[in-house]
Amino acid sequence: MNGPQAEVLRVSDLNVHYGAIHAVQGVSFSLRRGEIVSIVGSNGAGKSTIMWVLAGVVTPSGGRVETYGRPLPGKPNEVVARGLALVPERRRLFSALTVEENLVMGAYRRKMNDEFQRDLERCFRLFPVLGQRLKQRSGTLSGGEQQMLAISRALMGRPGILLLDEPSLGLAPLLVETLMETILQIRDEGVSVLLVEQNATRALEISDRGYVLEAGRFTKEGAGPELAMDPDIVKAYLGG
Ligand code: ATP
Repeated sequence: MNGPQAEVLRVSDLNVHYGAIHAVQGVSFSLRRGEIVSIVGSNGAGKSTIMWVLAGVVTPSGGRVETYGRPLPGKPNEVVARGLALVPERRRLFSALTVEENLVMGAYRRKMNDEFQRDLERCFRLFPVLGQRLKQRSGTLSGGEQQMLAISRALMGRPGILLLDEPSLGLAPLLVETLMETILQIRDEGVSVLLVEQNATRALEISDRGYVLEAGRFTKEGAGPELAMDPDIVKAYLGG
């Protein structure tokens, strides 16, 4: 299970209920090492719910989730220790803390040694603007800068699997493009990425594989770039 195509995440027949609402209805998918996989779908389709399950925050009503061939642990801190890091929708930074303090929080499980410094430098290489804003309170950053910081904070924990929930939300088109390029770079550095997006075109184009989620069920799956051009999907989900 250690080859380049090894599965790092497998979700089988996942079901989630919120009281009477059946938000996720028998969803199955996988993420292999070194892949970008996206789940696209409109508002309320259940995308964030899947991410919250993977982060150990929401308890499913049925199904199985395995990471690295073992059942997903039940608590968020154990999930992080397993190597999964969620960047939630709308970022959820510690807004009163500085950029630097947020990055230190991201590395809280680790020692402040040379590796910490190296990982900081990796973040500044991916997002140069953060290096110039270390002492700025994160609540005063622009939306795009906050997204960069949220991703960097997750990377400081050295995850093997990065879960990105709508990272392009609210960003200008040029910034979305930069962000997508950076996600490719993060993948190239060995991190497997699960990407959830409502703005699906670019997400699918950079993805190895994609799944379309509609009212809690997958209605299509395939190679990312092919799905991005699928006329039904363009019409129904991408506003084309
Ligand atoms: P969005 O992009 O708008 O966040 P989404 O695809 O991420 O949409 P979810 O947030 O996962 O969708 O929501 C799926 C369904 O579950 C929706 O009908 C939503 O109203 C419902 N839901 C989500 N969270 C809760 C909750 N805590 N309690 C009750 N219902 C919820």
